[in-house]
Amino acid sequence: MKALDELTFDNRFARLGDAFSTHVLPEPLDEPRLVVASKAAMALLDLDPAVAETSVFAELFGGHKLWAEAEPRAMVYSGHQFGGYTPQLGDGRGLLLGEVYNEAGEHWDLHLKGAGMTPYSRMGDGRAVLRSSIREFLASEALHALGIPTSRALCVIGSSTPVWREKQERGAMVLRLAHSHIRFGHFEYFYYTKKPEQQAELAEHVLNLHYPECREQPEPYLAMFREIVERNAEMIAKWQAYGFCHGVMNTDNMSILGITFDFGPFAFLDDFDAHFICNHSDHEGRYSFSNQVPIGQWNLSALAQALTPFISVDALKEALGLYLPLYQAHYLDLMRRRLGLTTAEEDDQTLVEGLLKLMQNSGVDYTLFFRRLGDESATLAVAQLRDDFVDMAGFDAWAERYKARVARDGDYTQEQRRERMHAVNPLYILRNYLAQNAIAAAEAGDYSEIRRLHEVLSKPFEEQAGMEQYAQRPPDWGKHLEISCSS
Ligand code: AMP
Ligand code: MG
Repeated sequence: MKALDELTFDNRFARLGDAFSTHVLPEPLDEPRLVVASKAAMALLDLDPAVAETSVFAELFGGHKLWAEAEPRAMVYSGHQFGGYTPQLGDGRGLLLGEVYNEAGEHWDLHLKGAGMTPYSRMGDGRAVLRSSIREFLASEALHALGIPTSRALCVIGSSTPVWREKQERGAMVLRLAHSHIRFGHFEYFYYTKKPEQQAELAEHVLNLHYPECREQPEPYLAMFREIVERNAEMIAKWQAYGFCHGVMNTDNMSILGITFDFGPFAFLDDFDAHFICNHSDHEGRYSFSNQVPIGQWNLSALAQALTPFISVDALKEALGLYLPLYQAHYLDLMRRRLGLTTAEEDDQTLVEGLLKLMQNSGVDYTLFFRRLGDESATLAVAQLRDDFVDMAGFDAWAERYKARVARDGDYTQEQRRERMHAVNPLYILRNYLAQNAIAAAEAGDYSEIRRLHEVLSKPFEEQAGMEQYAQRPPDWGKHLEISCSS
């Protein structure tokens, strides 16, 4: 276990130099205080969890202090936003403080979001408010606990610094951890600004540090792109299987590592709705829940375009062709497990699709449906769940098919079925209204609710005593919350 001053830095991205990032110091927040810290994320840095309670912790992650070895940098990138190309973006309010490596030899980027203005702030103030920092913190740690690849969050630091959004709010910082903060948009930036040397340097950097096994392949860059395609297919399959809606899948928000990245107006589905749009500025539904699948491929094509200096167009197209079949395979595999199936049959896809069609417009809670399905035998569970469906006859027909399928699947006890299904079907997910409750309390200075919610969500598959209120459907007020996009 390490103390805060025992972290070891190795700032590989900073060493790429000024063409890639700019040195900027964090702008401190007034009266920094710990809102919440993740012990699991602290363990990634070998940090003693007790240090979260020290004043120096809040000072470090509230922008007042800096390690001598840290080299804070704002990264430059660009990207396609809602389908249109924006030639220059960058860390407008976040800083890569440095890269720390732990005892296992893993490197972690320390990225402080809300750290003040940078050359990339455009019209923004460089700040993040408490509300959005809490949402990013909870989402990263909750997705991780569900087994969905994501950046992590070490802590949220609150303050008394006023920040103006639709109304006056308080500034906060969230410390994000990832093996890299390189986005698709980094490659696009050097491609569209026609800087082939820097682009090659960036590609080498990513290959050497993040895809070293691809070095052994006859065409290392192609192997790397294939791997990126595969990781994205798997990540998005998990989003779809668990009802996660990202909301702003611009290419500058897509990680080169295939992890969920840059949380904005995201939401988990409450009632199942394939057409759900969580981002209220997304008027055309470009990033609606079901569109995430084709958008994943669109984004990979944008990356492919930026990689044409290194890889032939034919090879890129072939690699892109892997996306949909891989997505389908991962998705179906997960959905089979969510249904309690251990074997694969040809018709399983239509079994899943049939269920989702019945759920659509039925007001069925997506998370609780699967959890309850595993509570009892297939026969008993479907009998108890049918009342939730508008088309009961349709559900009965589906249920007959499901029971027959379960019977063919294998001979196991209800205990085994429950255990297996509960291990993949969470009881607790980050519902918008739960986040909203925690935010309201935190804005009033009470951090107990966010800490409790974070705890509960860190073990989403385990029923926790006294936590029933976190496993409920949303109350009416919490159903279609408008989440402000200004963050
Ligand atoms: P996002 O939609 O949060 O992914 O941000 C898109 C771009 O706007 C990125 O380059 C951000 O750094 C920048 N940005 C967002 N909010 C702010 C802010 N409050 N101040 C400065 N830059 C911002
Ligand atoms: Mg972003």
